[in-house]
Amino acid sequence: MDLVWFRNDLRIRDNSNLIDASGAGESILAVYFFDPRHYQIDEFGFKKTEKYRAQFLLETVSDLKENLNNLNISLLVYLGKPEDILPELIEKYDIKNIYLQKEWTSEEAAVLLNVQQNIPQGIKFIEKYDQFLWHPDDIPYNHFSQIPKVFTNFRKTCEKHTSVRPAKKIPKKLSQENRLDNTTHIPSLQSLGLEHFKRDSRSAFPFKGGENQALERIQSYFFKSKNLKNYKETRNGLVGSAYSSKLSAWLANGSISPRTIYWYVKKFEEEYIKNDSTYWLIFELMWRDFFKYISLKHGDSIFKINGISTATYEWKSNNSIRKEWIDGATKYSFVNANMIELAKTGWMSNRGRQNVASFWSKENQQDWRIGAAYFESMLIDYDVHSNYGNWMYASGVGNDPRDRIFNIEKQTERYDASGNYTRLWTQNNLFD
Ligand SMILES: Cc1cc2nc3c(=O)[nH]c(=O)nc-3n(C[C@H](O)[C@H](O)[C@H](O)COP(=O)(O)OP(=O)(O)OC[C@H]3O[C@@H](n4cnc5c(N)ncnc54)[C@H](O)[C@@H]3O)c2cc1C
Repeated sequence: MDLVWFRNDLRIRDNSNLIDASGAGESILAVYFFDPRHYQIDEFGFKKTEKYRAQFLLETVSDLKENLNNLNISLLVYLGKPEDILPELIEKYDIKNIYLQKEWTSEEAAVLLNVQQNIPQGIKFIEKYDQFLWHPDDIPYNHFSQIPKVFTNFRKTCEKHTSVRPAKKIPKKLSQENRLDNTTHIPSLQSLGLEHFKRDSRSAFPFKGGENQALERIQSYFFKSKNLKNYKETRNGLVGSAYSSKLSAWLANGSISPRTIYWYVKKFEEEYIKNDSTYWLIFELMWRDFFKYISLKHGDSIFKINGISTATYEWKSNNSIRKEWIDGATKYSFVNANMIELAKTGWMSNRGRQNVASFWSKENQQDWRIGAAYFESMLIDYDVHSNYGNWMYASGVGNDPRDRIFNIEKQTERYDASGNYTRLWTQNNLFD
């Protein structure tokens, strides 16, 4: 029997491993682990995963389980470490091949190594990059070390020489016999050590996890409302779900692939309109790819205090500045509104993220890794490469050739002139 080990590729459409495994002629089984290490306290004192992302993940895995069931594939779900559970599964089901998405960041690589050390020799691991818009085999660089420092150079070269691969279909339904008696259960939020919460009605991200919901979001943002055609003008918005695609959370855990989104944008362009906005959504997906390639190029440096830059700064760590930032009690009500939104919903707009990050690490010179770790804990759409890449960029230890600092008063005037956004999160908060 073959095993598909799901990690950040929680979908049945355009999933290379699932297609290959189900076409190999063997029976297949699938597994997902809620790894307890992802719910522990990190070195800066934050829970690695807070309730918002955990809830979204529980919904995602539940959706995946159902979608796989419809293909007669059983998804076993465990709350435990892969290296503790996989050896038993391998023996019990006589597993020969394990298919999984290729991840390279140190924590993921360490888990895989632990697994490999705990199992009999001869088990084959088939790992594939499946999280990119432009597949690593298709970009015009022989080695990741050649990835340019500057995004524009990377983008222009890839746009000229690289095509986006077609999205793969859902695998064919397997026969009923492939299905196992599955006695495993998806854990509860409480069993992950997190508390139940009520969704905040003000949230700009009122969505649930799962591939089906991601597809629904594409239908509604692209085809029903046609908001996509104005994306470039609205993308710096702050209030409500319509100003940007909100696809990041599904992309982050792989319940939708960037290729699928790309091909839906192309469909929209054919059926309705091709303009700067439709291009810009794809442009942002290129940024997403860029940070993944930067992470491949620089490895663990993206987690280090100097990042990938040679610049050195005097980083500070002041507990009262930290508390004020997190609680939304700084001198800028715009920063406060964004930080309160994050704390209450797990979401913050891109404009907000740029400002609060600049405030933290540029204006206050606080250790940027603390800010990044707080985002890692809170964000529904946390993605290791996008988070650490953007944080390095915003903190002057990344790729930004301009090394900017945001003038928060000017930003507030420009993006929240009416004060509606700031009021939504600072005033209502008084009555909670
Ligand atoms: C300090 C900081 C931390 C961030 N942390 C994360 C993170 O953990 N996870 C994450 O997905 N994004 C992160 N971003 C990038 C960006 O803010 C979000 O991707 C975006 O706000 C998500 O909203 P959306 O899906 O509506 O984006 P849209 O504007 O609709 O963009 C479409 C897609 O393009 C990608 N994208 C857009 N902007 C960026 C960007 N700057 N970098 C990389 N990809 C981008 C996302 O996948 C997004 O879903 C961070 C940005 C900053 C400044």
